[in-house]
Amino acid sequence: MAGLTLDLATLPPGKSQIVLDTDPVDLDLPASEWPSPVRAELGVDKGGEQISVRGLLRAVAELGCVRCLRTFEFPVTVEFVAFADRSGTGRRSHEEAQLVRDRYMLFHDGRRVDLTAEAREALLLEISMAPRCREDCRGLCPRCGADLNEGPCDCSP
Ligand SMILES: [Zn+2]
Ligand SMILES: [Zn+2]
Repeated sequence: MAGLTLDLATLPPGKSQIVLDTDPVDLDLPASEWPSPVRAELGVDKGGEQISVRGLLRAVAELGCVRCLRTFEFPVTVEFVAFADRSGTGRRSHEEAQLVRDRYMLFHDGRRVDLTAEAREALLLEISMAPRCREDCRGLCPRCGADLNEGPCDCSP
């Protein structure tokens, strides 16, 4: 079963802790940029057909530094929240309608909850900020292109 999914048949009622490792490719993330499995550490609360999920996604992204262009490994830890209800049950409360708008609310078919798209989005959002290999990266010299992290170049200041 590809992607990040919760199997409702094996999920006990009430609260439980689940750890799932997912191949980045199954989240539609390129393996070249996501070298290791994505770990989801989830607190799941199952009440009838309603499932709430809160936890963390941990992954490693290989990014190009925006200043020196070097590739570096960037550990990603992102909070993950989702609510799922069985599709086609009852009328949605105001709060649920709000959650749907915020894209936290999902619907499941009674067999599994598919968190794939949400997990992918959360991870991509986390790396969308201009990444730097380190806080004080000196970048490249605009004249000769030398990596200034490796020392000053021969250009006059
Ligand atoms: Zn850099
Ligand atoms: Zn230079």
